[in-house]
Amino acid sequence: MMTVSEWIQARPFLAKLAGVQGRIDATMDAFQPAPLAPPAWDAYAPEHASGVPLLHSASAAIELAPAAALLRTVAADLAGAPVPPSLALQAGELLAGLEAAPGAALQAITWLARGEGNPPARHAGLLRYLGWSALGRALEPVKDAYQAWPQAAEWRSPHCPTCGAQPALAALVAEGDGRARLLCCGQCRTRWAWKRLGCPHCGNEAQDRLEVLELTGGDGLRLDVCRSCNGYVKTIAREPVQDFLLADWTTIHLDVLARERGLERRGASLYEL
Ligand SMILES: [Zn+2]
Ligand SMILES: [Zn+2]
Repeated sequence: MMTVSEWIQARPFLAKLAGVQGRIDATMDAFQPAPLAPPAWDAYAPEHASGVPLLHSASAAIELAPAAALLRTVAADLAGAPVPPSLALQAGELLAGLEAAPGAALQAITWLARGEGNPPARHAGLLRYLGWSALGRALEPVKDAYQAWPQAAEWRSPHCPTCGAQPALAALVAEGDGRARLLCCGQCRTRWAWKRLGCPHCGNEAQDRLEVLELTGGDGLRLDVCRSCNGYVKTIAREPVQDFLLADWTTIHLDVLARERGLERRGASLYEL
């Protein structure tokens, strides 16, 4: 089994992507977004109980303007950055579209976050990558407030409570005498607790249709595979799991191995293979 760095070394374009991600992170670190109003928890509670994610709720009224401003900042930085020229060109064209009309950046973010309106005419893939990076970062205060909200523990759905995406990752963490499972969103990076057994993509709980593929020889990474829907969840089965938040990128080799085994990636991800 290759290590991640060996795997990336064999794919130079991905090493560039790692550098690009570092640059995006640095731009976002330097950005001071306007403070977000706290969600209207009381108004949102009935929707939460029926599985409506925060971003899809009209009553929670999550503000998207700070994410739109951050998206423009990131696109503007990449357009003038020493990154691969094709990426700088695309970022410049994306930025031009985001600045073509008042509110265009907010419309693009709203399309990503809520599926409202139309996708941009060009560079939807880059918008998805940069826009979800911006959303994930700008929504951090909301995600923190959600974790502190007592009713968050009552979320029972396998999709992300923030954005509604299917989970890309899971982690097994100590709880009492046993272990609990946390699911993680590959889009907005929210984590939430879900039942230990069963496929979060199709709900299958039949043991003979669930498999664990241990792929990496002892470092605690594995694929939890469902033979009912042919989906899988990348799972971190070792402690500690501080690196969980960047684990979708650093475990992309597992997605490649899964695809080679004929499995389908159902969890949302910013990294297209
Ligand atoms: Zn999410
Ligand atoms: Zn399934």
